[in-house]
Amino acid sequence: MQLTPFKAHCPYCGERINVLIDTYSGPQQYIEDCEVCCRPMVCQVSVDVDGDYVLWLDDENAVI
Ligand SMILES: [Zn+2]
Repeated sequence: MQLTPFKAHCPYCGERINVLIDTYSGPQQYIEDCEVCCRPMVCQVSVDVDGDYVLWLDDENAVI
């Protein structure tokens, strides 16, 4: 496991937060609580064609 900090905006409160991503395990999706408003965000991690990790934060209710 290799944890890398990513910066992203919370989908609820809009605050800029740091999220640690495991940049070793490939694409993943998990729930993490916002450190500011404590609401559960869906963290979607994907890997682009260059092998760079991309983080998306989503409202829990926006993901089916
Ligand atoms: Zn928040």
